[in-house]
Amino acid sequence: MVRAISACGRFRAVAAVTTGVVEALRRRHNSTPVATAALGRAMTGAFLLGSELKGGQRLMIQILGSGPLRELFVEATPDGEGRGYVRHPQVDLPVEGGKIQVGKAVGGNGSLTVLKDLGLKEPYRGVVPITSGEIGKDLAYYLTVSEQVPSAVALGVYVEPDLSVGAAGGYLVQTLPGATEEEIGMVEANIRTMPLPTELIRMGREAREILLLALQGYELRFLGEQALRFRCRCSRHRLTSVLIALGAGEIEGMMLERGGIDVTCEFCRRTYHFSREALQAILRKASGRGA
Ligand code: ZN
Repeated sequence: MVRAISACGRFRAVAAVTTGVVEALRRRHNSTPVATAALGRAMTGAFLLGSELKGGQRLMIQILGSGPLRELFVEATPDGEGRGYVRHPQVDLPVEGGKIQVGKAVGGNGSLTVLKDLGLKEPYRGVVPITSGEIGKDLAYYLTVSEQVPSAVALGVYVEPDLSVGAAGGYLVQTLPGATEEEIGMVEANIRTMPLPTELIRMGREAREILLLALQGYELRFLGEQALRFRCRCSRHRLTSVLIALGAGEIEGMMLERGGIDVTCEFCRRTYHFSREALQAILRKASGRGA
């Protein structure tokens, strides 16, 4: 991922090649092409929007749609760590006109919520209705309307015939105060005539080259590069806290299961086993807290 600002200070842009991260998500969730494409677009969007945050902060996007995928949830840090899940990774829709039907799978109705954990007591939260379900356009709408920064977002995922991710990535261009109609028109024309992000990535273009195309005609100042990777923050300790939060009644119910229970992390599908003895210890801790 690379960030840049035009030397005139009127345009800001960030581009990301996320092929490896999206392929890691696909493997973990064993998702169909349309679920992979939706999850990959959302993941790429979270990296792009999260690029402005500081170390230790996190950006999350939740999309609740009327389509069969139901929910997408992705999380990214400015240090380049991302994770996410789709509620129904097995949903499959036929390709129409050579295009994966992300808009249909997400659905045209619903909400898109951006959460920013800035280390304050409450996270920042912005919600907009879904406009197309294509995710890129929805994020552009969110940035333009909710954050009031006119923005263009292009996101794409190319799925190979063997279902693996051949290319994934995208870019975000934002207009800053002071840009004239003519300057904005020039950038819009650049974006309109550019190949799709997946086409560029399949041609071997890197994030920096994508930015040079999007802001062609402007001198750019590059603000830094960030390697991206899939990483889940789950741990046995975190899941123990989740169990404690469920309450003594729930934990007692689980103890009735022979041999304990398995808890699977939604983000990475890793399974943690809690034996009866482990649950008993958690119950003691939970009741100790309640007393
Ligand atoms: Zn996990």
